[in-house]
Amino acid sequence: MRVEVFTLFPEVFEPYLSLSIMARARQKGLLEVRLHNIRDWATDRHKTVDDEPYGGGGGMVMKPEPIFAAVEAVLGRPPQVPVILLTPQGRPFTQEVAWELAQQPHLALIAGRYEGVDERVRQHLVTDEISIGDYVLTGGELPALVVLDAVTRLLPGVLGDPDAPRKDSFSDGLLEHPHYTRPAVFRGWKVPEVLLSGHHAEIARWRRREALRRTWERRPDLLARASLTEEDRAFLAQLEAARRASESDPSAAASSPTPEEPAA
Ligand code: SAM
Repeated sequence: MRVEVFTLFPEVFEPYLSLSIMARARQKGLLEVRLHNIRDWATDRHKTVDDEPYGGGGGMVMKPEPIFAAVEAVLGRPPQVPVILLTPQGRPFTQEVAWELAQQPHLALIAGRYEGVDERVRQHLVTDEISIGDYVLTGGELPALVVLDAVTRLLPGVLGDPDAPRKDSFSDGLLEHPHYTRPAVFRGWKVPEVLLSGHHAEIARWRRREALRRTWERRPDLLARASLTEEDRAFLAQLEAARRASESDPSAAASSPTPEEPAA
């Protein structure tokens, strides 16, 4: 996959892209990131890329000319690849969107600064707008790196275990189960017995249930869209029943299956 990044701060990217999985993906030729400084396309002698907003008010707005010139110089007019603006007003970035972008052989990311980009960039150049969450950062560089990172680990051949992304949180609509590693006992806290048993079917069952429990506790909104088996539904019903019992009679909580200790 090739990604063209348009930014006023290309130097932000290289350190992160030179580490770990991102670096490996680039070395293997699975990811090519080309950084373009929008300022290089400013035409006045001060290399101006921003100006005051029409209508007054504080802050500065990124001018349209250098952004159009940069994107069209690199990708042609009109660009034949998705041109994505990072903006808090975009569609929410999710694992599903990451999978969608990972199918693209070539795409462009535009990182804004100041109060954002002139609206005509959004209207006439950009084909997609992505937000990494409901908060406002000072620039689109971190959002662009977030998108790059999430997408890169989904590219075939990037992760050592090719199934890993399919097991991650959100990929099957659930949060992932908890993980443990050595030692088996740390400060008296034990790893769940089943994980030491070597019994693969039991381990798979435990992991599925813990994924369901975690999602039910932390992100019940995800359950509505997850694909669930009859057994999953029965387990969730058990968790619900335990919760209702403990709410109506807190003393019963100790004797009935709680969300922490459901009946097998
Ligand atoms: N005035 C804008 C607004 O209220 O929508 C926010 C501008 S923000 C200070 C500057 C730039 O940071 C944006 O143009 C965008 O590229 C980036 N940015 C900030 N928060 C973001 C988010 N949650 N997701 C994606 N990009 C974001």
